[in-house]
Amino acid sequence: MNVGRILVNTLVAISLSSVLSASGHGTHWGYTGHEGPQNWGSLSADYGLCKSGKSQSPINITSSVTVEAGDLEKIVFDYNTDISSVINNGHTVQVNFDEGSTIMVDNIKFPLVQFHFHTPSENQIEGKKFPLEGHFVHATKDGSLAVVALMFEDGAENPFIKKVWTKMPHDAGKKESLSISANEVNALLPQDKSYYRFNGSLTTPPCSEGVRWLVLKNYTTISKEQTKEFLELFHHANNRPIQSINARKVIK
Ligand SMILES: [Zn+2]
Repeated sequence: MNVGRILVNTLVAISLSSVLSASGHGTHWGYTGHEGPQNWGSLSADYGLCKSGKSQSPINITSSVTVEAGDLEKIVFDYNTDISSVINNGHTVQVNFDEGSTIMVDNIKFPLVQFHFHTPSENQIEGKKFPLEGHFVHATKDGSLAVVALMFEDGAENPFIKKVWTKMPHDAGKKESLSISANEVNALLPQDKSYYRFNGSLTTPPCSEGVRWLVLKNYTTISKEQTKEFLELFHHANNRPIQSINARKVIK
């Protein structure tokens, strides 16, 4: 086994553990004060990419960095399993799916692992921030990651969010059972699943790169009261600030 392969495997192990673990491991980090995003890269040697990476997320998706690809393939969604639990990992609220749901991108089948939330949104579209952004995290066995981002804009109360918020644990590290059917998950997603695509990173330490970002162009709604409820749980925003786009382009 060559060194490059070992490095890749190590990176994969790090990013997967941070994405998949319930409570997270390693050096403590947060969204405010000394442990806040501006210091993530210095908190631990493992978090270096948060500071030195050139393909970091989130980004502001503006027309000046967007290129048209006439043949951007459709994401094939196959969400056919239920949600069975919800956890508060201290950084966000995350719902976990029973095994078997996938998306297909680049001819790769990405199993759906979990769905979690940031308020306000992390990515922006033409400088517009949304009250909430949801991330569907997909990971293959060999550690390739794909995130589908869904924006929530101010509007009607969201019945899916209502179910999650009712059961979300108020204490970090706690898990509750939560039953939401695959049909309800599919109903949350817009019918028109056109999207922006770019290369990015995890938006939390260790900020591992090589993540396929797929930001849906169509939104759903959340009521102001629901956004407030989420904010009150964590007492502060849980969005990483916008990162430099550098040499990247967004494909639409
Ligand atoms: Zn996220």
